[in-house]
Amino acid sequence: MIRICLFPLVSLLAAANALHAQENDKSWLVESHALFATKQSMHFEAHYFPTGSAAAAIDDILKSREAGYVAVSNFLNIDFPTKIKLYFFPDQETKRKVTGHGGYGWGFDNVIAEVYNDSIQVDPFHELTHVLAYQIAHPPAALDEGLAVYLSEKFGNSAFFELVGYPGSTINETLHILLKDKKPIALRALLAYEDISAASEVVLAYVQSASLVKFLIETHGREKFLKLFAAAKPNGIAATGELFVRLYQGDLSKVEQQWLVSLRISK
Ligand SMILES: [Zn+2]
Repeated sequence: MIRICLFPLVSLLAAANALHAQENDKSWLVESHALFATKQSMHFEAHYFPTGSAAAAIDDILKSREAGYVAVSNFLNIDFPTKIKLYFFPDQETKRKVTGHGGYGWGFDNVIAEVYNDSIQVDPFHELTHVLAYQIAHPPAALDEGLAVYLSEKFGNSAFFELVGYPGSTINETLHILLKDKKPIALRALLAYEDISAASEVVLAYVQSASLVKFLIETHGREKFLKLFAAAKPNGIAATGELFVRLYQGDLSKVEQQWLVSLRISK
């Protein structure tokens, strides 16, 4: 199974369904080989256009990716068995033309494809979290995307919030801003999304997911969260509810209430 990470670019969401057929075709990984120069580091094999921003910064990029790898793999307590292939594209249109995927970043199998130029740089943690964590499980999208955004903040990178229009804000500060004129998405609905891009409020769904993961990890601990991540299944809300009871001694409503009360948010 491949989870599409649209890494929200709201203007492209309308086109997302039309792109899925192409996204499932991975022949670009072989056919586009001649486009790229390559460079390897301990855990990565980077592919980048021979001229441009990524080529000029490739040593620094790989250094930061290696530091990101250590942080995320330690947190998840998992290693990747082979090198992870990083593909850098100079702009979104080129990335879409080559890969069929329209967002800024995309992680699946052993591949991370990102836009990298002077103004758009995806953080080194988000897609890497997906690629590493997919070895554990493919849980409900809220846990998967929430973890990727949470770990980016935990490890000190705010690129996600710059890309979605809230530069300098934390997860919970952004959530409070968004909830000034919106109702929070019910936890049961949030956990039922198969893909966050299916949410009617995509940015709110990402930020609420990240806030939920932050609450679960920082209030109840990393070990319990990793057990939840490993056992929860997409489209299995009843079973996910039972997992919450087992791990957090409360059903979805109770955990939702504790989380919102901790943020002083009312339903
Ligand atoms: Zn993602």
